[in-house]
Amino acid sequence: MVGAALALALAQRDFSVVLLEPRPPAMQWDAASFDLRVSALTRVSQNLLANIGVWDPMEADRVTAYRQMHVWDRAGLGEIHFDAADLGEPDLGHIVENRVIVRALWRALADTPADIRGGRRIREQSCAEEGIALTLDDGGKVHAGLLIGADGARSQVREAAGIESRREDYEQHAVVATVHAELGNRDTAWQRFMPQGPLALLPMQKDLFSIVWSTSPAEAERLLALSEESFNERLSECSERRLGRLSLRGERAVFPLALQHAGCYVLPGLALVGDAAHVIHPLAGQGVNLGFLDAGALVDALVDGRERGRAIGALTSLRTYERARKGHNTATQLAMDGFKHLFSNDSGALSLLRNFGLGAANRITPLKRLFERVALGQGVDLPSLSRLGRTAPVK
Ligand SMILES: Cc1cc2nc3c(=O)[nH]c(=O)nc-3n(C[C@H](O)[C@H](O)[C@H](O)COP(=O)(O)OP(=O)(O)OC[C@H]3O[C@@H](n4cnc5c(N)ncnc54)[C@H](O)[C@@H]3O)c2cc1C
Repeated sequence: MVGAALALALAQRDFSVVLLEPRPPAMQWDAASFDLRVSALTRVSQNLLANIGVWDPMEADRVTAYRQMHVWDRAGLGEIHFDAADLGEPDLGHIVENRVIVRALWRALADTPADIRGGRRIREQSCAEEGIALTLDDGGKVHAGLLIGADGARSQVREAAGIESRREDYEQHAVVATVHAELGNRDTAWQRFMPQGPLALLPMQKDLFSIVWSTSPAEAERLLALSEESFNERLSECSERRLGRLSLRGERAVFPLALQHAGCYVLPGLALVGDAAHVIHPLAGQGVNLGFLDAGALVDALVDGRERGRAIGALTSLRTYERARKGHNTATQLAMDGFKHLFSNDSGALSLLRNFGLGAANRITPLKRLFERVALGQGVDLPSLSRLGRTAPVK
């Protein structure tokens, strides 16, 4: 998602782009099926996708606006409720299947001069400020000014460049599935904190949810092994039947969760973006939103570097990008990590604290507004592509 968005934005700004993707996406659209991988996109991610011309095609496929968010704790009475109407906003964000984002980006890329090489990987890479040289697994060569690693958490580009990445296993796995809710989804994203991890219910269409159920690896295995009937029962129970009976629509899958952060994002002739640079807990649905901010900040730095006559791989420009993003990514990671530890805990004192915290945050308006701004993706210096109303793509 992040690499394709960046490739598109750069191609639209007359940069010459080669996109290497070992697993090109399936491009056909099947409205009757649902992708197990979905993203809660903030308003600023929506702005970026609109500014590169893909939001309308995404809407034409399928996006679901959510207008309210309700968060509560298993152990007590702590609850917090957000409503877009209190902010004068039409919604708090959108839930979008990852395949919808990727399909729109790849269709738009096909209309640019970008050289797309599906099924190809890098076999050897060498990067310097003056230029980079790649040898691909089919023996092909690529010579360019800059290598951008947007190849996810297990980034081969990052490892080949010798950039260390700090990784902390969360000892939690996320079970994901699409489920039907007896009482409909009420345009609301729900999240319940439980000692083993949060259960998130992300609304899709009128009566479906995409669930992200974080729990211990052993419990995740059990949830996958349960019969459909028993899984439905357990899930309905864990959501306190607030949405009536929840029942599976299709497969379940599991993802191990970890915190990860690269020691640096840039070297001469090389930059990392998205999960290749940082991975966070999905509990606040921020991962790809941070990645889109990286993409926007790198576009700004490269366009500015070009205007100043610098080589595209010049460390000066790349450092501007890193400075713009690393602090914010670190702060978001720390906040999510803190939430994860505060809520995935059965200690009586922590339980009291979080119930007090949720209740207080619900009553204290400025604190609540702060949470809402974070949910919308505001409260950070925005790259130009992430701002509202830049209208049509540059080219
Ligand atoms: C259960 C779960 C729920 C989540 N929910 C949310 C959410 O609600 N909101 C949110 O913002 N984030 C969410 N995230 C996080 C989000 O999915 C990631 O942050 C996002 O996928 C990162 O995008 P990316 O493009 O950087 O990397 P990826 O999505 O990992 O994409 C990497 C790309 O690189 C390609 N690639 C791999 N290896 C190579 C190689 N050697 N050479 C070239 N290309 C390669 C892959 O094929 C892929 O296309 C969630 C994560 C999980 C696990």
